[in-house]
Amino acid sequence: MQISGIHHITAIAGNPQQNVDFYTAVLGLRMVKLTVNFDDPGTYHLYYGNEVGHPGTVLTFFPFRDAPKGRRGTGQATTIAFSIPEGAMGYWIDHFKGHNVPFENPEARFDEEALVFYDPDGLKLELVAYADDDRLPWEGGPVPPERAILGFYSVALSEEGYERTAALLTETLGFRATQEHGDRYRYEAGAGGPGAVVDVLCHPTEIASRVAVGTVHHVAWRTPDDDAQAAWRKTIAALGYNVTPVMDRQYFHSIYFREPGGVLFEIATDPPGFTKDETVAELGSGLKLPPWLEPRRDLIAQALPPLWLPGEGSQ
Ligand code: ZN
Repeated sequence: MQISGIHHITAIAGNPQQNVDFYTAVLGLRMVKLTVNFDDPGTYHLYYGNEVGHPGTVLTFFPFRDAPKGRRGTGQATTIAFSIPEGAMGYWIDHFKGHNVPFENPEARFDEEALVFYDPDGLKLELVAYADDDRLPWEGGPVPPERAILGFYSVALSEEGYERTAALLTETLGFRATQEHGDRYRYEAGAGGPGAVVDVLCHPTEIASRVAVGTVHHVAWRTPDDDAQAAWRKTIAALGYNVTPVMDRQYFHSIYFREPGGVLFEIATDPPGFTKDETVAELGSGLKLPPWLEPRRDLIAQALPPLWLPGEGSQ
């Protein structure tokens, strides 16, 4: 049994409009679902990805206006890296300059080049140029398809010590150690490469993180179906982790547990996906609610802040 890669990553944002504008109009991702936090329906849950929101491309946000800023630190996923085509780095540097996006000089890492940048809430992101990513980008955004983001490249976890997290990844979840340099230990899942890479950063002197605006809430790993997920649940519970029951997230089914360093992990099923309640053409075009919240649609919609979607009127 092996995890095959990153399913989605969820972070906390501040202003929802600012978040939509940045991820669609600047980064060129598609909004693949507009819904609410099922555990807190007064808050949006915004999903961005490629055309259909394929696992490994999906970044999601809970936006809380006026919530406090979080703090990057240990026990947290501290960097989300997107994959871009080889040769696209220059385009993105110009693009960030044109949109006043803060970024740092590209740095060489292993056999790749990484460009660190920050979203409007200070969430730390990266672009990694990679030659052999054959995934297809969303072509409806403002970025030319031959330069566009193809999905996740990797996620980096900051840990006070890396050994127990490494052991969970390699001995239980099926990752393999592939490279290390300095304080960075790289693991890859399944076929490896973009969307299947996790870097564990050993940062014993770093301060502990605080999850709030501008930080990652959890990282979800892919599993093919409900049976495999049930098997994961058994395995993880048997190791003594406090793993949740299976939650119906409408577009996937989820279990959650905290890895030894404190990062919240989720294991999510690939099916049914975002076309469960919208066609591919319709994805993200209106507020979708799960059946159990649908009877309260009017109340929920009235309490949410207005939101202008790309190329559309107000939600
Ligand atoms: Zn999740």
